[in-house]
Amino acid sequence: MQITSYGAAGQVTGSCHLLEVAGKQILLDCGMIQGSSRAEAHNRDRFAFDVKKIDAVILSHAHIDHSGRLPVLHTAGYQGPIYTHEASFDLCKVLLKDSAYIHEKEAEWQNRKRERKGMEPVSPLYSQQDVENTLEQFEPLQYNTPLKLADGVTVTLHDAGHILGSAIVELTLSENGVNRTLVFSGDLGQRNSPILRDYTRLKHADLVLMESTYGDRDHRDPAHTFAEVSEIVEAINSKPGNVLIPAFSVGRSQLILYMFAKYFDEWDLGRWQIFLDSPMAIEATRIYARHKNLYDDDARAFEMENDGLMRLPNLIYSQRSEQSMQINRISSGAIIIAGSGMCTGGRIRHHLKHNVWRNDCHVVITGYQAYGTIGRDLVEGKSHIRLWGEAIKVGATIHTIGGLSAHAGQSDLLHWYDGFENRPRVLLVHGEERGMTPLLAELKSRFNAPAEVAEQGRTYRF
Ligand SMILES: [Zn+2]
Repeated sequence: MQITSYGAAGQVTGSCHLLEVAGKQILLDCGMIQGSSRAEAHNRDRFAFDVKKIDAVILSHAHIDHSGRLPVLHTAGYQGPIYTHEASFDLCKVLLKDSAYIHEKEAEWQNRKRERKGMEPVSPLYSQQDVENTLEQFEPLQYNTPLKLADGVTVTLHDAGHILGSAIVELTLSENGVNRTLVFSGDLGQRNSPILRDYTRLKHADLVLMESTYGDRDHRDPAHTFAEVSEIVEAINSKPGNVLIPAFSVGRSQLILYMFAKYFDEWDLGRWQIFLDSPMAIEATRIYARHKNLYDDDARAFEMENDGLMRLPNLIYSQRSEQSMQINRISSGAIIIAGSGMCTGGRIRHHLKHNVWRNDCHVVITGYQAYGTIGRDLVEGKSHIRLWGEAIKVGATIHTIGGLSAHAGQSDLLHWYDGFENRPRVLLVHGEERGMTPLLAELKSRFNAPAEVAEQGRTYRF
């Protein structure tokens, strides 16, 4: 048996690995390459393997860098099943449709320019219809429920604690009398983070394909994050202006709402109007509510006591764009949670335009901000940001919450590996050199683990 990494080897996006066993070809993830427009152009490349020969796809979780090229795989001729956790299936309906929408809009915009130049139009990477067709191929699974995919191939999903439905993929394989267990970590979450259960630690594997996004560092502990948020809330409560919270629709928005619900009285949040101004975040919040069985004990108890995990008496779901525009008329007393998380698109940009120049406004950054994004400019304290070609003064107070990450830090990654009693071989994926090199060193020095960094396109037998 053998495995080849075709994406997320030496980088964090475009997760895609091909397993060949017992005459079958099984693809683990089929993610979008994200980053510069030059990098993203590779999403249109032909797949480096024969799509028609793929027998099954297993998707670890719904994030676009793991799922986003599934419609491309479909249009390239893949007709077989896509196995994933049922909550990931629900989230994919939202995320893949949104992805198609973005690609359609992008193509429309390009084509208006191309038409003026007398050039042939381009088609979007994929359409809403392609997504609909791809979703037909999904086969939802539960955690801890083995499924035989073929003779010699059984898959079991386990909690990965990263986002709703995220899974560690365990494959028990047999070929010509040889038995092997392959474990693909997917993306692992932080231990003790709110809402979801922690990742499962498995005891045995022969080969582990392991993510390494934060292999070089730990996040600040939850107690520190709580203190940080409490301080920000105090600052917010002392000024009358609006508060903008750019947040990813899936995961981060729900985490913020849950924190608000939990500390509603303590943080005196009753004085605000709180808006969730994102159709995608609203839908994701509903999906979280539908999958209560995936919550950890604390979240479950809170949910039962309060008849909901994210129930706030002053929370307004702003679905339609007219509702969103009405929020712009409010000059004080509004907390607005909107996408996108790095302010690269979405409704948050309109709210920034109306508020960020004001001295009584606050912006609360809740996640990683990539270089070159408006979110990064805010974090770095730039005096102006550019929106639709206009330079806008930053008068607002910018706050950053450092510890909220959906990813395991170095200690958690090592703790997860330490669960394997037989110290299996490791191939590190889904990380940049900065994260992989220190993690590799720790795995070797602490556990004497046979670990190496997976090279793109190289085949590893096991
Ligand atoms: Zn992820």
